[in-house]
Amino acid sequence: MNLNFCSLSSGSSGNCYYLGNEFHGILIDAGISATSIRRFLKTMDISIQSIMGVLITHNHTDHIKGLEVLTRRNNIPAFTTAKVRESILGPHRRISYDSIHEIPLKEKFNLAGFDIEAFPVCHDAPETLGYHICYGDKKVTIATDLGHICDTAAPYIKAANLLVIESNYDEEMLVTGQYPYFLKVRIKSDHGHLGNHQASAFLADNISGNLSHICLGHLSKNNNTPELVLQTLQRSLSERGITLNGHPQISILNRNTPTGMIRLI
Ligand SMILES: [Zn+2]
Ligand SMILES: [Zn+2]
Repeated sequence: MNLNFCSLSSGSSGNCYYLGNEFHGILIDAGISATSIRRFLKTMDISIQSIMGVLITHNHTDHIKGLEVLTRRNNIPAFTTAKVRESILGPHRRISYDSIHEIPLKEKFNLAGFDIEAFPVCHDAPETLGYHICYGDKKVTIATDLGHICDTAAPYIKAANLLVIESNYDEEMLVTGQYPYFLKVRIKSDHGHLGNHQASAFLADNISGNLSHICLGHLSKNNNTPELVLQTLQRSLSERGITLNGHPQISILNRNTPTGMIRLI
């Protein structure tokens, strides 16, 4: 039995994550081109034919850019809630209705041996989901676009062994940067994105022995750097007297390229 996780791309220019065992894999989001997805998987000896489905979080382009080609040309089925499907199919008429399968909210379903639960997060799309995926005794949670960590999302985030969580912007870079005022307000709002301080404070307050890997992702190109993400987390941890000693492992996910495969089992 094995279980591997890899981020193919993570950031405001495109998101796609892989989770797989020795037989099959699934993707979470398809926000980069299908060609890049195939190419990145190939570099890790994973064939596109082993992908049993793609879970979609919401309708923003950085999460669905490659979806049309993946469903049409590679025949990979997509899975999401009725509301997210509706929001995708409206403007993207070339994606067929039948290629996106409806899943329940906050109820488990099984795909290729993975037990999956979608949960709602607060973000400025018609509906946005996080995913909690169980395989064997391992639990993976992915929450990449959320203005704050609401009471519904928190238990799924706290239960993870491997957590992918957004650390989108450095508060000072955003406030002093070039973005127009309305965009700064949107990003900082409760339905925008999670900043470095928000993500770090939540992690420092809730870190538990169960958590083996923290992947900080969806970094902004203009308002963040990997160094600032790490510094902010380290500061939050040391303010609470926490030293990690390598457990959990911390990764800052690359924006445009895969970040090394993590072996969970
Ligand atoms: Zn996004
Ligand atoms: Zn979004």
